[in-house]
Amino acid sequence: MNNSSAFRWLMTAPGAPLERREFELPAPASSEVIVRVVGCGICHTDLGFLHGGVRTNHELPIALGHEIAGTVEAVGDACEEWAGKDVVIPAVLPCGACELCNAGRETSCRNQKMPGNDFHGGFASHVIVPAQWLVDASNLPGEIELADVAVLADAVTTPYQAMLRADVQPGDGVVLIGAGGIGSFGMQIAKAFGARVVAIDIDDEKLARAAEFGADGTVNTRGLEINAVLDAAQAHKIPQRPVLLP
Ligand SMILES: [Zn+2]
Ligand SMILES: [Zn+2]
Repeated sequence: MNNSSAFRWLMTAPGAPLERREFELPAPASSEVIVRVVGCGICHTDLGFLHGGVRTNHELPIALGHEIAGTVEAVGDACEEWAGKDVVIPAVLPCGACELCNAGRETSCRNQKMPGNDFHGGFASHVIVPAQWLVDASNLPGEIELADVAVLADAVTTPYQAMLRADVQPGDGVVLIGAGGIGSFGMQIAKAFGARVVAIDIDDEKLARAAEFGADGTVNTRGLEINAVLDAAQAHKIPQRPVLLP
């Protein structure tokens, strides 16, 4: 392994430019892998940490970034099957051992760890993570680059999970409040589920993009009272069982 080439872009203080700092790659612990980062999404949460006064769980400095795709470059002795694989690292890593995890409710685990919040994330050449929750991305369809699937870790899976939980069926109505990152993926997923989708935002540019992504209707709520918002959304013929997200 070429230790000298490992580096992180560290957040050192709120609002300060990220600082590139080299570090030495350790040998991974038994259940850990070292992933060479190929792509990392920028989430609004990262901007919240850097510019929005949101504190990271881990003290500064820390490398932000929790939407990570890459290639496993080193493995601990308990997870050798991951050697060399392309992977997506989930944005939240449950502990896998508590009562909630054992009950299949990992999303409610109180000991979750998040890259770029609890430990160094993907704004780096390499990340060190437990192998347990890695998602194998070795066999992507030819036209999809590994870097492009980094956003599966959060921006895509979050609304996908919401659609599953809401049990969205063909012909259902989905109202997406916020047509930004998660919203724009959410509306494409809702369309793929066969729903009728109305996108709500206060930004015409985002709403125009929502229409490009297939939203059946868009509503700019800037300056509207709540009843006017409901009327405007209903004007787009949302079916009987509207599903309000998020
Ligand atoms: Zn995020
Ligand atoms: Zn747990």
